[in-house]
Amino acid sequence: MVNRRNFLKACALGGVGVGFGGFYDTFYHLIPFNDRGRQALHPIYGNSNAPEWLRDPSSGKLRPNPDWILRYTVDQQCHSECGLQVKINRKTGRVQRISGNPYHPNTLTDYDSIDTPLLATAARPGTVCARGNAGIQSIYDPYRITVPLKRKGPRGSGQWQPIGWEQLIKEVSDGGRIFADTGDAASADLDVLGFNGLYAKRREPMDPSAPELGRRTNGYVFQGGRIVGSRLGFARRFGAAFSTVNTYEHVNICEVSHHVATAQVYPGKHMSKPDISEAKFIIFWGTQPGDANFPMQTMAKYTAAARAKAGGLKYVVIDPLLSRGGVMGERANWLPIKPGTDGAMALAMIRWIIDNRRYNADYLSRPTQAAAEAVGELSHTDASHLVIDDASHPRNGAFLNLEDAGLGSAAQDEELDRVAIDVATNRPVAVEHSARAAVAFSGKVNGIKVKSAFTLIGESASEHSIEDYAAISGIGAAQIVDLAREFTSHGRKAACEMYRGVVKHPNGYYNGVAVLLLNLLVGNLNWTGGLTVGGGSFSYKKGQYDVMGIETDTPAEGVMLSREEAEYEESSEYKAKKAKGENPYPSKRPWFPLSFEMFSELLPSAVQRYPYGVDILLWHMATPFYSTPTQGNEAMVEAVKDPKNIPLIIASDIVVGDTSMYADYIIPDSSFLERWCHIGVLPTVLTKGTGVRWPVVELTEKTPDGRHMCLEEFFIDVARRIGLPGFGDKGIRDGAGKWWPLKRKEDWYLKATANVVFQSGVADSEVPDVTALEVQVGDLSGFAETFKSALTPAQWPKVLSVLAKGGRMEPRSRAREGDRLTHRFTKTLHFYAEEVARTRNSMTGEPFLGTTAWVEPTTALGQPLDQLDDPKDWPFTIITLKGALQSHSRLSSNYVLRQIMPDNGIQVAAQDAGRLGIADGENVWVVTPHGKRKGIARVVEGIHPGVITFNVGYGHWGYGATNYRIGGRRIEGDKVRRMGIHLNPIMRRDPDVEQMSLMDLTGGSIVYFNTRARLEKVNA
Ligand code: SF4
Repeated sequence: MVNRRNFLKACALGGVGVGFGGFYDTFYHLIPFNDRGRQALHPIYGNSNAPEWLRDPSSGKLRPNPDWILRYTVDQQCHSECGLQVKINRKTGRVQRISGNPYHPNTLTDYDSIDTPLLATAARPGTVCARGNAGIQSIYDPYRITVPLKRKGPRGSGQWQPIGWEQLIKEVSDGGRIFADTGDAASADLDVLGFNGLYAKRREPMDPSAPELGRRTNGYVFQGGRIVGSRLGFARRFGAAFSTVNTYEHVNICEVSHHVATAQVYPGKHMSKPDISEAKFIIFWGTQPGDANFPMQTMAKYTAAARAKAGGLKYVVIDPLLSRGGVMGERANWLPIKPGTDGAMALAMIRWIIDNRRYNADYLSRPTQAAAEAVGELSHTDASHLVIDDASHPRNGAFLNLEDAGLGSAAQDEELDRVAIDVATNRPVAVEHSARAAVAFSGKVNGIKVKSAFTLIGESASEHSIEDYAAISGIGAAQIVDLAREFTSHGRKAACEMYRGVVKHPNGYYNGVAVLLLNLLVGNLNWTGGLTVGGGSFSYKKGQYDVMGIETDTPAEGVMLSREEAEYEESSEYKAKKAKGENPYPSKRPWFPLSFEMFSELLPSAVQRYPYGVDILLWHMATPFYSTPTQGNEAMVEAVKDPKNIPLIIASDIVVGDTSMYADYIIPDSSFLERWCHIGVLPTVLTKGTGVRWPVVELTEKTPDGRHMCLEEFFIDVARRIGLPGFGDKGIRDGAGKWWPLKRKEDWYLKATANVVFQSGVADSEVPDVTALEVQVGDLSGFAETFKSALTPAQWPKVLSVLAKGGRMEPRSRAREGDRLTHRFTKTLHFYAEEVARTRNSMTGEPFLGTTAWVEPTTALGQPLDQLDDPKDWPFTIITLKGALQSHSRLSSNYVLRQIMPDNGIQVAAQDAGRLGIADGENVWVVTPHGKRKGIARVVEGIHPGVITFNVGYGHWGYGATNYRIGGRRIEGDKVRRMGIHLNPIMRRDPDVEQMSLMDLTGGSIVYFNTRARLEKVNA
């Protein structure tokens, strides 16, 4: 057996990364004040590092400490994408400290403008949260992989062989009997297609009898986890060159229904956020300040500061769990709602607001942006727009257009090809011809029965009484009325903010829309203290270089493996059933015409070969067995282990993870401090900005020609070996049409940075040239020399300037113009979602709802969940918690965070625990219809009775938690990473669809919050 210390030595020999020597060692060496048995250097500061900046005692002037390199990049310890200042030992190259970037709005509320001299930022550091600070342990994880690995034995047997980069590229590209050396009888004779063999079939159809499925090359699938911005762009570019439509990120296991609902209400936008700093009243719905949200630390800071102001913010948290919401005193309150009933409560509020005329009637009566702006409004809605409400009409459910109404031919702009009842004339007119239109209308126009969008939502809200909604949601009717009254008492300075808790249910899309519509009723969009869809970003895609362009005669086409953004009714399967006179419903698995990034559907669809099989699967930062409800179940894992189902599985990971442990090959990937990405700021920040993540250190081994191994270099080398367009000598075209090579990742990312830099902006946000001090402090001259051929000489000074500051941000002075936000959204806001109403559920054949309503959560074929698992037998509902200290797998290496909370446990309400005789700290079984797991009971007050929760990120079986072998040497797992409970693998499967969790078939979210369970005492 190899102990941890010997393991590290062995890893060095075998090519695996070297890091800390163990859990206790790790703590020991990270405690800055520890004297380690020797006299500490300083009586107060112990052995902590010398500061980044030194002050001359006589002049008081600051100067950089020459011992350190300071580089500015972007964090990825969560998706908040905060700017970082990374302190690197100039002699050893080791990262010593991570703090906040003073040029980034997430980390410094009054952040410095891009033309602020570096020295002037020295006394104003930005902040990072505990996670951000602990990131140093993510990159120096002792379990880091730094060379390629190939499995020995069957998939998942826990045995690996280090291999060379060239062998990796050759085998996965050329295919053939590449597993003959694994000792695995099941795959020894498998003739694997490889990238080259599959690409050779790019002109063949996937299925000649179903041409809509596109090219055979759709058999390559990229399943990305947390891949965003330009790094996702790079993966998509490879996919486009390979002629596949199947490049995915993780969104449906996160909160896609939130994005889909937002995009229906705020057309094309995926997020709306309150102007927290200036708001008077906010409802945080299914989320709370301080927990995972966008951006986590920034929302917490804004909320705390706004609440502390005299006459400042009041807020309410609506969630089954009170986590870190800061609810105390008079300015904040918590309403513990039953999981999945948010739509009922929001509809109760809508009903009360409409019944009591507390909505902004004049705002809602303005049918176009022009009409709205004429009276000083900043946005407009479809409240007055008429919808066909006539089952016999072929366009039932669509907006009445000018032709339907007999008012002429279609308007060019689709938003204007609608009709409303003009208040001045009391007649139907094109919306653009009305300054003020009737908000409530039900009647006939040109013989067609119509209703206004506002009338439809009013009718929907009136389907239940406030008392009924109160009973559904568990929030008293009086409390709902009080909340509705308060929400409508602050003019435009009130907003509803919603996130995962609202939407991760089978009815999530409808819940989400109901919450968002509350904002429309008060007309808060674009107002200071109201709501924003954000300031936007400086795009990396175009400008100086067309970095996304691929010139191919076989463009990617066809239905995606997940059947997203595609209608079942257009499929050959549907048409064949119809032709045979069969009921075409249900489809074999659901189709998702309204949703996107359906991560959870990839493995089951591939195994079931619906609508087609998968030849090559590439997991990147993806761990579906851990992160996706139900998918870590034994049958699913066994199916993926069988190479006949998916012949080639490659993972790109920084460790042997909970899912990558089942791959055939693992590409050693870069950590967040070693990689590139251009990522826009999130809408909570009102200004425009793009953060630039770039390799401030590099730790993986190098390819034979000197590039650090990572996902991008893998793509580049495979592409060049099999001759994909857009790589090699003719890689990227500039604006003048000249070709530039793409042979290393910087050839592409530096051009993407040039695109960010050389976009026109407002005068005071122009990018200055890099200064000599920035070059010195950031140690940038070597970097620029190494990659100098990637850009023109004229571009380098400003590109370096943006790298030196970790991105390009608009100055904070551009956030607001008095009582209005600078960046405004002016498309028609929707009470009514025509696209949704005109689309069908592929399982039931029923159309989705154009307006929202209280929709009971069900299985795919409509069985109510209370019937599926009787609450008498299963009295608890499991919800998940993404806390501030853990959630992503990579945080399991952050021992400083684990020290704060080593074990997650099962949170149970004191009332329930008392009834069951469960004591705090006692071991209990959590039992679901699909299995049981043991955990420590954490008895708390801040959770709705009947609900239990666990903090995600604990209870790993990979990621260094269990033993495995590399090159025959045993690597010992660390029990710290196994600690805690993880319930995703035993969450509820939908009985109507093979290997599918409960799902929101409208918005596409997988369901985390509706598994029934019971608690059993371990020794009962
Ligand atoms: S909120 Fe914390 S973990 Fe997330 S990006 Fe910001 S500093 Fe990093």
